[in-house]
Amino acid sequence: MLGVEVSDLRNYDEQLYEKLYVNPLEVLKIMEGAVKSYLKEHKDEFPANKDEEWQVLLRSDDNPLKIRDIKSNMVSRMFVISGIIISCTKPFIKASKLKLECKSCRNSKTIELAPGQYPYVPSFCEGQVGHTQKCPKDSFVALPTSEVIDAQHMKIQEFPEDVPVGEVARTYSLVLDRRNVSKCTPGDRVKITGVMLVNDMKT
Ligand SMILES: [Zn+2]
Repeated sequence: MLGVEVSDLRNYDEQLYEKLYVNPLEVLKIMEGAVKSYLKEHKDEFPANKDEEWQVLLRSDDNPLKIRDIKSNMVSRMFVISGIIISCTKPFIKASKLKLECKSCRNSKTIELAPGQYPYVPSFCEGQVGHTQKCPKDSFVALPTSEVIDAQHMKIQEFPEDVPVGEVARTYSLVLDRRNVSKCTPGDRVKITGVMLVNDMKT
């Protein structure tokens, strides 16, 4: 795990910060790849870490947004919110890279799943190049080489003091993965640096 203070990054390279803010999932992926290749190159200095799957965790000192101020134009951006965790699912295992093979023509396919994205298997196989016969419906099977990660869903509710009189407290769903799993329990007051997903949010 590598913790990154967003303010350090902003002081170091404003442009990189801007990219992270606008497209955090892509920048995080590049950062994790960079950590991995750095450790590979310096494997003599870090022998124990060579096979570890690295996760970059962001921490921002920005003022958290109130849950009711979340807007749809923030989708896919980095943001900071605070609130109370009101429910957590049990941790579960979710595919992150699904490797599929067609039972009929042996055509293989890899599907990379974004955080919070549910695995899906295409119904139809395009077949191999030069393969004239169409493959039957639902011919793909998942291979054991598919990659999986730990994940967990939580619900966060706004602080009672943020709820206007006569209104109901608002909640949001959170998708947590890898090192963020099992980090909090219901009742915890938290500040979260995350990414707004289309249907969900990820820390
Ligand atoms: Zn096929």
